Amino acid sequence: MERTILHLDLDTFFVSVERLLDSRLRNKPILVGGISDRGVVAACSYEARAFGVHSGMPMKMARNLCPEATVIRGNAGTYTKHSEVVTGIIKEGVPLFEKASIDEFYADLSGMDRFFGTYKYASELRKKILNETGLPISFGLSENKVVSKVATGEAKPNNQLKIDLGLEKSFLAPLSIRKLPMIGEKTNLTLRNLGIKQVKTLQEMPRDMIYTVLGKNGLTIWNRANGVDHTPVIPFSERKSISTERTFDRDTIDVHRLRSILTAMTENLAFQLRRGEKLTACISVKLRYSDFQTYSKQLKIPYTSADHILIPKIQELFSQLYNRRLLVRLIGVRFSHLVHGNYQINLFEDTEESIRLYQALDKIRERYGDRSVIRAASMGVNTIGRMTNPFNGDPPIILAHRKQ
Ligand SMILES: [Mg+2]
Repeated sequence: MERTILHLDLDTFFVSVERLLDSRLRNKPILVGGISDRGVVAACSYEARAFGVHSGMPMKMARNLCPEATVIRGNAGTYTKHSEVVTGIIKEGVPLFEKASIDEFYADLSGMDRFFGTYKYASELRKKILNETGLPISFGLSENKVVSKVATGEAKPNNQLKIDLGLEKSFLAPLSIRKLPMIGEKTNLTLRNLGIKQVKTLQEMPRDMIYTVLGKNGLTIWNRANGVDHTPVIPFSERKSISTERTFDRDTIDVHRLRSILTAMTENLAFQLRRGEKLTACISVKLRYSDFQTYSKQLKIPYTSADHILIPKIQELFSQLYNRRLLVRLIGVRFSHLVHGNYQINLFEDTEESIRLYQALDKIRERYGDRSVIRAASMGVNTIGRMTNPFNGDPPIILAHRKQ
């Protein structure tokens, strides 16, 4: 069946929100990120990009490249709120949409052609978002997600682009291979060493040859280069969550132990988030007393996947929740309102070192099991309940500290 897929992406989202709050920032080079010398650029305006600055770059280097830039310490809470307003408008407007990240959406408009022109419909939605939020947004419209995403990139800033059915391949042909999703630094280098810079060259390469060079991944890349992509739009649900809970063999009133378990659970779930490149915006703690009364408390928070932000908040929820002097039968932690995203959102508080620390710890966890490195505060905890990777359904990792 023929599909119509819309991709929407807010332009330089963090910068646009800052400009909404302070109009003096318009048309100026802006760097958003950690403001210390060891901080990292989370986002930058087009004016700053002209100086060679890009996100992920050390702040010190960015300041050297563009000394006149205004440096702003980002605020994940503010961005989360604005992201939710945009999400709300899209939710009202389209039946099936995916929130791909804090500032990026896909919508499946298939079948709507019979009633409205989908391009007209998408244009009106874009105008509505701009009018109601003041945030510039661009879109791409085509037969699939990949082509629409690339089209959005070409449309930017603050514009729109439609690729008609059958023209996907010729639209992609003149572009740099860097513009295809999935082509990272490493793949780019491999392809460049083969003399491939343009999508056109990839398109003309025999399928077998790319398979030899890049394996199975190569086939996906080759399909994408040819404008072929069947990935569905995955409906966004705020209820989508990951959680873990533990029922005690013997009910306990040892608060210190309960807190250690909550820390261990949070640490583990946060790792699962980062592994699935997800962020959470809503956390909750569940508590069941020995009389089987169950209570839970939730808290909306700025998007994050960092344990040092999540653990104190989970502990605070527990403090509010645990107010009966009774034995506890079960405790649990849940993260919901999940969206795709990486460390970037936490770059405001974090230095390069702390980001690298997270990456290093996670690498150890990938390799030796997800409890191979843990906080001292959760060391006494042997098991935290059954875990699976919620994003790919992998079997549970054997807990390194588990006593069999
Ligand atoms: Mg964006």
